Amino acid sequence: MKNFVKCNGCGKLFPAKVGKKFHSIDCAQDFYRREKDAQSASLWAALPTFEFPEEAAAEAAKLDEAGRVRAAIKTRAPAGAVFYRVGCPKPDVTVDAELLKLRWFPSRTQRSPPLFPLDPYDDPAVPYPGLYAVAYFERAGQIIGEPVFKVEIPFWQRLHRWHHGDLSFVLKTLIYEKDRK
Ligand SMILES: [Zn+2]
Repeated sequence: MKNFVKCNGCGKLFPAKVGKKFHSIDCAQDFYRREKDAQSASLWAALPTFEFPEEAAAEAAKLDEAGRVRAAIKTRAPAGAVFYRVGCPKPDVTVDAELLKLRWFPSRTQRSPPLFPLDPYDDPAVPYPGLYAVAYFERAGQIIGEPVFKVEIPFWQRLHRWHHGDLSFVLKTLIYEKDRK
């Protein structure tokens, strides 16, 4: 008699097999895609928006838009950070939070490696003005922690499109020393 187990993705019963949790590869992929989207939605909702501390507000007010973004990104950079990326959900989405996806910039199609440098600093090139989560990376392109805040970026580049952004903030391949020289 065959033993049946419940599929992790859709609940359908299928013949038990060691290590098999989903009834099909498609079902597993759908499940992990949903899980990943839910993670990005909760990440986005949990992040506070950067505000200058009271004592720095007067100085910050003297800066132009790009200067304020630069000050926010550089101020919050953790020790060892050499690069950053910014991510945002699709503009004007009214779908429920479970369907929210973040796209990350610069994307692999925009820049190689897909990272903005902190020093000398490059302004973020983003597809629309609004709030962006900020992630930091060390010199080899390894992420440092997780994004911890959002920053308002009021400028954008018309040639960039939201759907060109990457769906993950981590890099698939790390940067080798020789590539940076
Ligand atoms: Zn299934």
